Amino acid sequence: MLGKLTVNVDGRQRCRLRPSTSADGARMDQIQHAVPISGERCRHCGFEFSGDVRACIADAAQFPGDLAQVLGSVDSATVRHRRVPHEWSLLEFGAHIGDVIPWYLNRIQQVLQEDRPQLYPADWAEAAELGEYRRRSVQRVCDDATRACADLIDLVTRLEPDQLTREGIGSDGSARTVEVLISRADHELVHHRHDLHYALDQLQNA
Ligand SMILES: [Zn+2]
Repeated sequence: MLGKLTVNVDGRQRCRLRPSTSADGARMDQIQHAVPISGERCRHCGFEFSGDVRACIADAAQFPGDLAQVLGSVDSATVRHRRVPHEWSLLEFGAHIGDVIPWYLNRIQQVLQEDRPQLYPADWAEAAELGEYRRRSVQRVCDDATRACADLIDLVTRLEPDQLTREGIGSDGSARTVEVLISRADHELVHHRHDLHYALDQLQNA
């Protein structure tokens, strides 16, 4: 199952799926990211949590074009269609990137500006419902993702080497560096690009 509705970014030993239940009772899955990240690989998208910031820049440069291509290859009904109730539609995957990347950028800024700040997780299934991802236009979703990726590239390219080691504290009490947060933001791009192409393939071959 490749579509993920919730990305819980705090405090698990490896990237894995954990069932949860949404407000309307539908089963959902959460990604549990790795802490520490070095040497870990996501078993769904193959992303290696290596802390390669240059890879993050390349992935952020590639994502908007991929997203526009995928969302533009199906009609308005199909782009909003959930193949199964607990898996996001193509549009929702794209809208998630437009929200989750700025969220990571805020976390990184917080770690850079404060002394080992406490970091808190987000509920992305709830964000999708409250933000009405399914009602957004394709243009808005593409614009938001493009802006988010540009902002990520801008931040990453401005960082000094010693800033990569600054730390915040996750909800499990473990430390995570700016480098880790960048890697997790990068994973969002790679993982959901994988989701988008997999879901598109399934929709076109249904
Ligand atoms: Zn992944």
